[in-house]
Amino acid sequence: MRISEVYFPETIAETLELLRANPELQLVAGGTEIVGSQPTRSIALERQVASIVKIKELRKTVRTEQFLELGSCTTLTGLRTLASGTLPEPLYDVIGGIANHGVRNIATLGGNLCCKNRFMDLWPVLACLDAQIELRSAAGARWAGLSHLCGEDGSPSFPPATLMARIRIPLFSYNFIFVRSLGGNALPGPHTATFACMANLGRDKIEDFRLIFAGTKAFRLKEHEMAVDGRRRGMKGREMQSLVDYYTDAFSSQSWYDQRLFASLAQEAFERLCS
Ligand SMILES: Cc1cc2nc3c(=O)[nH]c(=O)nc-3n(C[C@H](O)[C@H](O)[C@H](O)COP(=O)(O)OP(=O)(O)OC[C@H]3O[C@@H](n4cnc5c(N)ncnc54)[C@H](O)[C@@H]3O)c2cc1C
Repeated sequence: MRISEVYFPETIAETLELLRANPELQLVAGGTEIVGSQPTRSIALERQVASIVKIKELRKTVRTEQFLELGSCTTLTGLRTLASGTLPEPLYDVIGGIANHGVRNIATLGGNLCCKNRFMDLWPVLACLDAQIELRSAAGARWAGLSHLCGEDGSPSFPPATLMARIRIPLFSYNFIFVRSLGGNALPGPHTATFACMANLGRDKIEDFRLIFAGTKAFRLKEHEMAVDGRRRGMKGREMQSLVDYYTDAFSSQSWYDQRLFASLAQEAFERLCS
């Protein structure tokens, strides 16, 4: 049995100093993913661990007219108890579908986005909402889009020795939102994934279209989203079907999830978008 050395930094600066001294240091926020994904009853942590959940700077919430900024250690329950109307749609419902009340009391937003071996439920939804993340390391601080955490092959790619400090969500609302979680709210595994599609339906046209499917890997056709923008709102028949087919054909090269399930979700999303 390995005995871990556990640190309790009180500030971001102390955490960065620990990461600088040991880039292999394991950050633990709520610990629900780290512990929940262990195959045995005895929990194995890295040799050095830093518990960051009590760092005050990582639990702050700021709201401006343009965005909602959340410390990465804000718990999922904390998010759901923000004043009504504060969380952009559909976050309240998506968070309510994660795990159960007890887990959500401990689990954090940062932990949901920083999972190293798969994408958790909030990643595709926040990526659709154009959320930005602040990454801090010994080299400094920078803001990036969530797609920064996705590698070329669609797998999660979290920069080493890095702390996610804040998440900034633009307060921009979409009037078309279609989100489906596959595989239930059990501990995420190979059969769980989230399909998120959002757009703005203007009087005649579709605008700001985005579609992301994520589980063990992530799938998004960013260039094709622009080809959907500007299409007629009420398009039907062949024109709509060609968009569905484009997505299902592109997904056929992805072997990480059942292609028929993806195809049926893409069909439903476009039918609703065009209805
Ligand atoms: C019974 C059960 C059911 C679950 N169901 C769901 C579900 O339906 N949907 C879902 O999405 N998840 C689910 N989860 C997984 C998990 O609870 C959530 O994803 C949760 O939000 C993870 O947050 P955490 O704070 O516990 O992360 P932790 O376990 O503390 O950390 C997760 C990962 O992120 C890293 N990390 C954490 N914070 C930071 C940070 N600020 N900067 C850099 N790295 C960081 C850690 O090093 C670790 O690699 C479930 C878990 C359990 C136990």
